[in-house]
Amino acid sequence: MLDRRSFLEKSALLSAMGFMPRALSAEELERELTGATLGTTPGFRGRPCVVSSANGIKGVKVAYDQIAGGTDTLDAIIAGVNLVELDPNDQSVGLGGLPNEEGVVQLDASCMHGPTRRAGAVGCLEEIATPSLVAKAVMDYTTHVLLVGAGAKKFATAMGFKTQNLLTEKSRQDWLRWKSRLNRNDNWLDHDDDVKINWTHGTINMNAVSAAGDVSSVTTTSGLAWKLDGRLGDSPIHGAGQYTDNAVGAAGSTGLGEMNIKTCGGFLTVEFMRNGATPEQAALKTLERMVHMTEPRLLDDRGRPRYDIQVYAVAKDGRYGGAGMYEGASFAVCDDTGPRLEKCAYLFKAADRAR
Ligand code: ASP
Repeated sequence: MLDRRSFLEKSALLSAMGFMPRALSAEELERELTGATLGTTPGFRGRPCVVSSANGIKGVKVAYDQIAGGTDTLDAIIAGVNLVELDPNDQSVGLGGLPNEEGVVQLDASCMHGPTRRAGAVGCLEEIATPSLVAKAVMDYTTHVLLVGAGAKKFATAMGFKTQNLLTEKSRQDWLRWKSRLNRNDNWLDHDDDVKINWTHGTINMNAVSAAGDVSSVTTTSGLAWKLDGRLGDSPIHGAGQYTDNAVGAAGSTGLGEMNIKTCGGFLTVEFMRNGATPEQAALKTLERMVHMTEPRLLDDRGRPRYDIQVYAVAKDGRYGGAGMYEGASFAVCDDTGPRLEKCAYLFKAADRAR
């Protein structure tokens, strides 16, 4: 927002330069001066589109159908990610998510609502399966944007969310197996099986635009498996795990959250789109910036990152894209041609993956 002084100075300047042939409304003036759009854009007609990480393949259809039926974009994508949060078989999100190093499931989520420019988030939330809805409740019912830990849980229960044990038997067994192999000299006997634990990371990010050009984004996760107690990833951080500007579009990520926090990946992708990049170009440029910001410990001797991350983006006019650090990732999308998985663009070939 412009403060009163710079508002008056800029208005006087524009007027002196002959740019203000008529009195503009406050909304029109802000748009002239900042390029930003307040709320829903009158008369805008675009193409509705929902884009998410690959594990949202069912959710993008749910969200798209709701948006086509007139539901608000944020409510629709939260309904989409709720499917994954409540799925005990997805061990990267919500119920059944892999726990931290102490065996406790701690969930992170954040959301942004473009038309009203509001945001909410929760971090290290325990015993509530749908952190995306708690993040939205923070946005809807408080003046804050981020609640964490015991306070977040207290708020959620006050709002009527039910507490439950989120650690499924499968996730508990995986945690015990990890724990027993940590150190040969500890008092845990090693398992003699060598079962690979499939998920040690994962998240769902979903972004959507309606025909009216209203944009929203949400990201929800159990974070990195076996993380330290209290670790927050990128998912609850606005501008990292997801970001929306109703004038431009939305973007979010899955993958190594620490790298995304350092790069402000969600915000940066939206800024690249604001400056003219397509969603796919913007996602790739953000990944390039992440490589540039990577500490040596996480690079191999050829400068390739030893981690993976994917960026997903949608523009206000319904264009979309996804990109991963390495070849092979895919993302989910739903528009008027239906739900599908598409291949992510990438920076590095699979064969060149850092070892
Ligand atoms: N971004 C998530 C985090 O760092 C994890 C992931 O997406 O794999 O918490």
